[in-house]
Amino acid sequence: MACKGDGPRVFARGDNLEVFARGDSLKVFARGDNLEVFAQGDNLKVFARGDQFNVFALCQKVRRAARAQSSSMSERVIPLVDQRHPSLPLPTLLAGQDLSALPLDGLRRPLTDLRISVTDRCNFRCSYCMPKEVFDKDYAYLPQSHLLSFEEITRIAKVFVGRGVRKIRLTGGEPLLRKNIEILVAQLAALPTPDGQPLDLTLTTNGSLLARKAQSLKGAGLQRVTVSLDGLDDAIFRQMNDVDFPVADVLAGIEAARAAGLGPIKVNMVVKRGTNEHEILPMARHFQGTGIVLRFIEYMDVGATNGWCMDEVLPSAEVIRRLHAELPLVQLDPSTPGETSERWGYANALGKYDPALGEVGVISSVTQAFCGDCNRARLSTEGRLYLCLFASQGFDLRQLLRDPAQSDNALAQTVDAIWRGRTDQYSVLRSLRGPDTASGPGRRVEMSYIGG
Ligand code: SAM
Ligand code: SF4
Ligand code: SF4
Repeated sequence: MACKGDGPRVFARGDNLEVFARGDSLKVFARGDNLEVFAQGDNLKVFARGDQFNVFALCQKVRRAARAQSSSMSERVIPLVDQRHPSLPLPTLLAGQDLSALPLDGLRRPLTDLRISVTDRCNFRCSYCMPKEVFDKDYAYLPQSHLLSFEEITRIAKVFVGRGVRKIRLTGGEPLLRKNIEILVAQLAALPTPDGQPLDLTLTTNGSLLARKAQSLKGAGLQRVTVSLDGLDDAIFRQMNDVDFPVADVLAGIEAARAAGLGPIKVNMVVKRGTNEHEILPMARHFQGTGIVLRFIEYMDVGATNGWCMDEVLPSAEVIRRLHAELPLVQLDPSTPGETSERWGYANALGKYDPALGEVGVISSVTQAFCGDCNRARLSTEGRLYLCLFASQGFDLRQLLRDPAQSDNALAQTVDAIWRGRTDQYSVLRSLRGPDTASGPGRRVEMSYIGG
């Protein structure tokens, strides 16, 4: 199978392009100004650099015995260009655009949830998100001047709150790497909402810095956290974060968050078939009855660098089946409209949900599209607004934020006009016609850039 574990991989990126290829029985063809590479061979390694390349790669990972049979060969191409494509044109505003009603998008979905990426950097290299081969020491992260300042983020967040947003999630990259993040948290926590209710302000983190930061985040006004943790087995966890980070330190972070009152805490586990599926039950047992909600996320085809393929997705239905066989479950109603997670409660001996045992969730973005309720917008670290996790282009709000002529009212009109034009429903389309493998400007942005 071509996409398992250490299978062949070819990566290439845009201006000042680099090509890196590794794998058994690999062929690589790359062409560009001042460069032509053709290479072929077993256990091949190719490294090439130059401007404006086209890369074509044909990878075949086949067992030697099977190699003779051309029918068993599989093809895999991972073309990469600079992920930050040109932004989409901003909508033209009509004079006196009406802001009296909150916007609904083209599929009549409201805008209630804003995810803000505060950095495109991370101290982990989870292979499903920031594979080491691409996000290496030469990777061009955003320069400081491109990042939205805390004041810019707070101003645009206030505009979004005025247009219906009630939940803000800080994310990244690893959000706790952003210096003085507590200052931003305090600014956002102080934002007034039209109905006087506090914003639901939360943050998703890999937990590595949480033990140190939980108390100050709570003090700044953060309400709760979601911590990503892909297993309890230290060896598997170190392999998945790919920087040899120990599981004990993340567990200490979760404990610190609980002690600080950053709850209800959620724990996200990305399940990759063949990698950490055996961690499902130990994770469930560990968090059962603790008040912490464990959620299993299907491995998604986000971005264009993780070499995703369906064979590595363990459908949520299978996760629930395996759990239910050992720890009986009953399905629960969604707690809010547009919730990404399907809820399952642990059952008592009578087969009834037992709140003391708690619940788990499954996020089935691959096998069960939930676009119909999707009320989420994403703001990238450099201030581009993306309307879908799988989008390839966003709207440059930073240019408006840095234009002294733009009032908050004009910003609100722009946000409304963008949202009203939204028709995104990638997961639904994926289930109808398969994953999108577009390259170039049509290629999806990375999750570490727009935030999870
Ligand atoms: N660094 C933080 C963290 O890991 O929690 C926040 C950013 S991370 C991009 C947000 C979430 O996206 C994490 O829970 C992570 O597990 C999830 N994620 C990243 N790549 C994914 C993929 N290919 N499929 C499913 N979930 C993914
Ligand atoms: Fe970093 Fe989070 Fe992506 Fe892992 S999932 S590489 S921790 S941003
Ligand atoms: Fe929302 Fe896009 Fe995910 Fe559908 S695929 S649920 S539209 S983010």
